[in-house]
Amino acid sequence: MEKNSKLKSWRETRTLTSRAFRIFFKRYPQMVMSRLLSVMWTALTPYVGIYLSALVIDELAGSRNIRRLQALVLLTLLSGAFTALCSAFLEKWKETQNAGLWLKVEQIFAEKLFEMDYGNLDETKTAELLSTIRQNQNGGGWGLYRVIENYETLCSSLLTIIGGFSTTIALFTSPVPESAGAYTIWNHPLCVALVIAVMIVITYTAPALYNKAGSYWARNADSINFSNRMFSFFGWLGDRKEIAADVRVYRQDKMCERYNQKKDDAFGSGGQFAAYSRGPAGLYSALSSAVSVLFTGVVYTFVCLKAWAGAFGPGAVTQYVVSATKVAGGVSSLISMLGNMRNNASFLEQVFTFLDIENRMYQGSLTIEKRRDRKYEVEFRNVSFRYPGSTYDVLRNVNMKFEIGKRLAVVGRNGSGKTTFIKLLCRLYDPTEGEILLNGIDIRKYNYAEYMTLFSVVFQDFQLFALKLGENVASKVDYDEVRVLDCLEKAGFTEDFFKMQKGVETYLYKDYEKDGVNVSGGEAQKIAIARALYKDAPFIILDEPTAALDPVAEAEIYFRFNEIAGDKTSVYISHRLSSCKFCDKIVVFHGGEVIQQGTHDSLVAEENGEYYKLWHTQAQYYTE
Ligand code: ADP
Repeated sequence: MEKNSKLKSWRETRTLTSRAFRIFFKRYPQMVMSRLLSVMWTALTPYVGIYLSALVIDELAGSRNIRRLQALVLLTLLSGAFTALCSAFLEKWKETQNAGLWLKVEQIFAEKLFEMDYGNLDETKTAELLSTIRQNQNGGGWGLYRVIENYETLCSSLLTIIGGFSTTIALFTSPVPESAGAYTIWNHPLCVALVIAVMIVITYTAPALYNKAGSYWARNADSINFSNRMFSFFGWLGDRKEIAADVRVYRQDKMCERYNQKKDDAFGSGGQFAAYSRGPAGLYSALSSAVSVLFTGVVYTFVCLKAWAGAFGPGAVTQYVVSATKVAGGVSSLISMLGNMRNNASFLEQVFTFLDIENRMYQGSLTIEKRRDRKYEVEFRNVSFRYPGSTYDVLRNVNMKFEIGKRLAVVGRNGSGKTTFIKLLCRLYDPTEGEILLNGIDIRKYNYAEYMTLFSVVFQDFQLFALKLGENVASKVDYDEVRVLDCLEKAGFTEDFFKMQKGVETYLYKDYEKDGVNVSGGEAQKIAIARALYKDAPFIILDEPTAALDPVAEAEIYFRFNEIAGDKTSVYISHRLSSCKFCDKIVVFHGGEVIQQGTHDSLVAEENGEYYKLWHTQAQYYTE
């Protein structure tokens, strides 16, 4: 973080900014082009008006030819109307292409997150980086978004400078007539150079001071990040329905208030940025405004002196003052933009650190043989696993074969490694040691997306979307309604279905639809089981599938389990041993190891075994 709080060099700034720009150009070329054309038009067309108005004034003050005057006025009006029409058209195009720019930027991150190794998502570093990027973006508009804004400013200021310059050149080259006496000094090249130099110095100083004020943000990125993170946690707690009950019971709102209203927070009235605004940043900003006013004074003096001396007519006075001020404005915004770009570079560096997070899992390319008979045999061979950043092995030397079409129950105490075992089976992580084989070949060698098609899993912490019931079950927008209903029925979601007034079209929860139905934990679990069934994969894995169900619904699921599993190889993790009895094989995990395997009858007969202990503890619980 220390590194990010320093200003980047110009070279680094250029590399980072052009990389960001290329991302936008590649993904959204129309957006970039619409900005360019609209900016070109806005920057160059005012000069047409300025030029024509100068001609009108000169005509009025000069020969006063009525026909020529009429023609000039007409031309000025027509060109004004045409320019306005095209501007409106270009502006609309730009607006359409740039709609939802925030969302477009968010999509870049979302895509990265979706294609990231599951293990990377676990790392605190990843979450911290992403949250910092979002805070900087939402708090100060820093990061990718700023690049597109700067690009627009770059184009507009360059074009303004070019346009203004071409209409200002004559200000310096029009000679004062010899008859003007001492005023002819303005014809001397040194005098012209001096005026230009003064203009350049002022033009440069104003934005440089402004950037200096702005650099206090970039230099203190760390404290901004921290404050933003605190705010984004405590500031939005009221929005989160899932904690609304706890907040009320424990009055956690008081705790949030304390954090949100801290005066000495970076953004508080007693904080760092308020101190900067009262001190150096405020001073630089005020000086910058004062220097800008000086420029107008210098231009006016120079133009008026030359006009007074007879170098040009009154029409040209307005033209030169407006054009020179525009050139200065262009240069000024160019310099501000460059400073802003440099301040933004440290924020871009964070963006790219995130986008460059490497996927370390090997991506195989073998295709998976499509088998109607679903004969996919998976075997764990001496598998050990340690979570990234952890200090101990969560799984140790696991050996296991999944028998095709059979029901396997996995039991064990909390934290014994059951869920981790399933995550390895689904290749969310790769083993630290040993290998997992599919039909005799290491699963790392298979194409990952294809390998994933083999599994339907209901994880303990499954999530449903606030979308239609049918979409949730099918994980698709265009789903087969008959199949959805069949899967819901198999999962025992029948009585609950009557609550769904629009059938499979009913929205779950009320996030996006006021008639949405808030399903209970048990109902949600049945929908998740139906989702697993809809996928119809050769393996079905249920991790604590009945934890949220009432005893009646639970009994129903066991009763239907044979129907649910069909000819699939099924894995069933449960704390309720009575529900594992019906499985063909039971494996017992303890401290990351498989300590027992067998049928219920054989395991319960081992009086010194863990299974015996677990079984009798629960049996006692139920019989008492
Ligand atoms: P079970 O499913 O048997 O309750 P888990 O497989 O969920 O057990 O967890 C086994 C162990 O791994 C626990 O000690 C748990 O704290 C640890 N663990 C689980 N997930 C992670 C993770 N993402 N990072 C580090 N440790 C983890």
